[in-house]
Parts: sequence; structure tokens; C-alpha cells
Amino acid sequence: MGSTPTNQARACGACKLCCMLPEIPSMNKPVDTWCAHADPTSTDCGCTDYENRPDGCRAFSCGWLRGMGDEDDRPDKLGVMFQPVMHDDLGDALAFVEAEPGALDRPRAQWYLSQAFVQAPGRIFIRRYRDLNFKTTELTVNRSSIAG
Ligand code: SF4
Ligand code: SF4
Repeated sequence: MGSTPTNQARACGACKLCCMLPEIPSMNKPVDTWCAHADPTSTDCGCTDYENRPDGCRAFSCGWLRGMGDEDDRPDKLGVMFQPVMHDDLGDALAFVEAEPGALDRPRAQWYLSQAFVQAPGRIFIRRYRDLNFKTTELTVNRSSIAG
């Protein structure tokens, strides 16, 4: 889905997680469901109606595409998508959305979480694999597994 990179060095490539993980109300796309226009087997963007995709979809860029994390931590490789979210009370916030079971427990994801908690306390959420709810406190960051 992402197509508006603010970090020109990055490109979605074969990743298409934002065509599946988030809800897209303007397309009646539920959370954790492939968009009707997505081809999950494609080795590139996989959108079958790219030119006509809606504005919300067109404007979306995940945190990685905006420059978060290392080059090698594209969401489909990390197993976690950094999803900018708008919280009713908090305003801008960030969700770590798990695309594979247990991906949030891996050292690199734990490290990013620990950094995010420090940089934006109270504005970090997680959503576990196939859990429809964003949560703030389920995950206890395992600092003994933090990697640089
Ligand atoms: S319209 Fe295309 S780019 Fe947008 S979510 Fe669907 S498949 Fe992805
Ligand atoms: S999750 Fe990020 S990197 Fe993956 S397709 Fe969407 S915007 Fe691109």
C-alpha cells in the first residue's frame, strides 16, 4: 500500500503488509484481511488496481518507509509493521503490529520497542498477531534480550 516514501532510499519492494494488516474503512477492508485488490503471491507491490487506489491508501507510509529502523528491517522481514496511528486522546501515536506469531518477542523488535517506549512514553501500542485490539501493557520488554 505504501507509496509515499519520505526516505527516498527505501522502497516497499515485495512487502505488502499494509495491504493486509490495517483496517481501511474507505475500502471496507477489515483488519487482518487482504485487500480485494492485493495479490499476496506477487513478488512486487501486488496491487491490481494501483492507479485507482483510494487516497487513504495512497497516503499511507509505515514507519519503516518513513525511516524508522534499519534498512534490513522492512516489515515483511522483521515480522512487525510500525503503524502510525491517531489516538482519540493522545493524537499521534505508534503501533507495533505483529505480522507473524512471536515476532514482537524477537530481540530486534524488543530493542525497537524499548527505544520507542523511551522516546514516546505513553504513545506506543502493540497489536499481537491476529489480535484485533491495540494494547499498551501486554508486552513486558525483555531487556536481557535487547540487541544493538
Ligand atoms: S488498493 Fe492496492 S495498494 Fe491499496 S490496500 Fe489494496 S492492494 Fe494495497
Ligand atoms: S508495510 Fe511499509 S514497507 Fe510494507 S508495503 Fe506497506 S508501506 Fe511499504
